[in-house]
Amino acid sequence: MMIRFAIVPLLLALNFSMCKNHEAVSQNPQPAGASSPAPGAATAAPVAAASPKIKKPVVDQTAQAIIFCYHLLVDKVRYPGTEITPAAFEAQMKELKDHGITVISMQDLLAWKRGEKNIPPRCAVITFDDGYKAQYEVAWPIMKKYGYPFTMFIYTEGVRGGSLGGGGAITWEQLADMRDNGVDIEAHSATHQDMREGHTITLVGPGGKKTRTKLTGPQYEEWVRNEVVGCKELLEQRLGIKVNCFAVPFGNYNEHVKEMARNAGYEAMFTVYGQPITFTSPMDSLGRYAIEANRPKVFEDAVKMIGASTSAGAPVAEVGAKDLATQPADGETVRTALPLIKANLSGIGQIDPGSVQMRVSGLGVVPASYDPKTGIVSYQVTQKLREKSCSVFVSAKSAGKKVEAHWTFGIEEVAAAPPAGTPIPKR
Ligand SMILES: [Zn+2]
Repeated sequence: MMIRFAIVPLLLALNFSMCKNHEAVSQNPQPAGASSPAPGAATAAPVAAASPKIKKPVVDQTAQAIIFCYHLLVDKVRYPGTEITPAAFEAQMKELKDHGITVISMQDLLAWKRGEKNIPPRCAVITFDDGYKAQYEVAWPIMKKYGYPFTMFIYTEGVRGGSLGGGGAITWEQLADMRDNGVDIEAHSATHQDMREGHTITLVGPGGKKTRTKLTGPQYEEWVRNEVVGCKELLEQRLGIKVNCFAVPFGNYNEHVKEMARNAGYEAMFTVYGQPITFTSPMDSLGRYAIEANRPKVFEDAVKMIGASTSAGAPVAEVGAKDLATQPADGETVRTALPLIKANLSGIGQIDPGSVQMRVSGLGVVPASYDPKTGIVSYQVTQKLREKSCSVFVSAKSAGKKVEAHWTFGIEEVAAAPPAGTPIPKR
């Protein structure tokens, strides 16, 4: 399925530029079927040589992911707020597999959020915070055993050692080894403290002397810049990597910190307030489920949250909207709030004609017509679409299995004004 998604968009992207030109000409709403060649026909047309823009693939915007945050793996748990035994950890990794939850990499999750790559309907991302030797020595082998990708969120003063490092900090050499083997390494501040101005923090002076203090003004700005930007730069320079994720220590930050992080080139920011990540979850506060030995329910709840959709019936096969030569195309912007919506289902295979259904955001199920001869399902919108973007869901049964495709197009406000039939104002 993944391969299909990856290849099809590339092939069809070229054809799509042609479809668009064609549609620009026949802009006036026409009755279904009366228009020009069936959209499918365009696929067979010769491909225009120059197509500088490769269109984004259609991603499943209904997919969801849960992100787990682990800290220390130890045989004897002494601090159940951050520790878990390797056995309990491994049991959870197995449970994900047993529940059919696919573990994907953080970068795949972000690519999906950008609309560049598809992910399975129910996913998990595994992250480890702070940077402990035990993550290298104990967690990594377990992750290898399951073939799971994962992300390390590192606070750089910890790796540096010294008084903020504690005993079991991971080393740069171990991080380099992880990097060489495909582990994603990301930022978790410099000194792991509350990032907000005026909050009590610990400063380490020359000779390791610790001072509790509250910084404000330029002093705070300098300090927080090192936490947000300095940490990123150090990781990038020491490891020769690109860092685009920032896990906020304890989730303590604010708009000022967010803006600084965005300006520094962070694409995503993470908190510890677990919640399923959806296509529209804001990138500057992605919640993670922090898993601790004394709260095993957190893991179960997270799995339940994302598991809710599995429940009943046959699985749904997701079809890329590009395979259906949809009109309007995915990502296209149309000038009318009364568009003609079409999709060509002929590529899907044998379809039960009675099972074809179209849903339009803002309208619900619409009385679309389906022509079994051409495979085209179409609906002329008769009630103005109110939103700036419109999502269409087309589903049908093929060989007893439900097949579904969905796509989104935009509506330009200017044209959203006069409904069909309004007399044209004098020129
Ligand atoms: Zn941490």
